[in-house]
Amino acid sequence: MRLGQYGTTDGTQGWVGAKTDDRTVVDLIEAGAAAGVEIPRESTDLLAEWEWRRKVELAVEYAEETGVGVRDVDDVERQAPIRTPGKVVCVGLNYRDHAEEGDNPIPDEPVLFSKFPTSVIGPGDTIAWDPDYTEKVDYEAELVAVVGREARRVDPEEALDHVAGYLVGNDVSARDLQHGDGQWVRGKSLDTFAPIGPELVTANEVDDPHDLDIWAEVNGERLQESTTSNLIFGVDELVSFCSRAFTLEPGDLLFTGTPPGVGVYRDPPVLLEDGDEVTIGIDGIGELTNTCSYA
Ligand code: MN
Repeated sequence: MRLGQYGTTDGTQGWVGAKTDDRTVVDLIEAGAAAGVEIPRESTDLLAEWEWRRKVELAVEYAEETGVGVRDVDDVERQAPIRTPGKVVCVGLNYRDHAEEGDNPIPDEPVLFSKFPTSVIGPGDTIAWDPDYTEKVDYEAELVAVVGREARRVDPEEALDHVAGYLVGNDVSARDLQHGDGQWVRGKSLDTFAPIGPELVTANEVDDPHDLDIWAEVNGERLQESTTSNLIFGVDELVSFCSRAFTLEPGDLLFTGTPPGVGVYRDPPVLLEDGDEVTIGIDGIGELTNTCSYA
């Protein structure tokens, strides 16, 4: 199933929804209530519920039988599928070829950094920055794992049981701040610098997260193209590694790193500008498009 967070154009409270086909979203609050299943409004709260997937299935079945809660995609406003993650954990240099591209040694262990949760935006939202504050804004196509069940000190063999599903992410980066500061948190955490979407695809629908084509296009030109089979550390190893240091909680996001072709290492460099359109795509997960704007 594909889960998203939505608003309605009439300005009523937001709700978590299931996208059942290209044209249709089911309002899980409304359909769930009618079916006798209580579903929280926020996806992060839903993922913390016992048997959340079964609850969603019951609500969707009821909607499909009765039409209750069924919405046309044109009548809803898409938001980030996870609007308020507790943590946004990121991994640097996790594609063999990307590490080589920047002349960095292949790490023995994952290199973790963080983006602040306030940087999260959704599909169609605007990536915005002040061009006087940063002049080197770059894209990074990434597979994002979303934590489902709390994970603390889990082994790699059981780590994927703690993953609710996957998203497409763009680890937008202000390279001048990132490289000038000596550590990365400011350059990675500007407001709007963590687009995610278009929906959370539940883990049961992803056969192998380590065998997915991944790409990035800027204004229709393909600048990154790889596969998650090039990941140095897989999702299972990353979840296990993180969970030894800190507890992963439902709704936490794990950006798994980017393949070669980011703008800063291109010759000549490709930096994002006002009006640029960035699309990140992952086979079977979806495409995430955002427009850039000076603000
Ligand atoms: Mn990254």
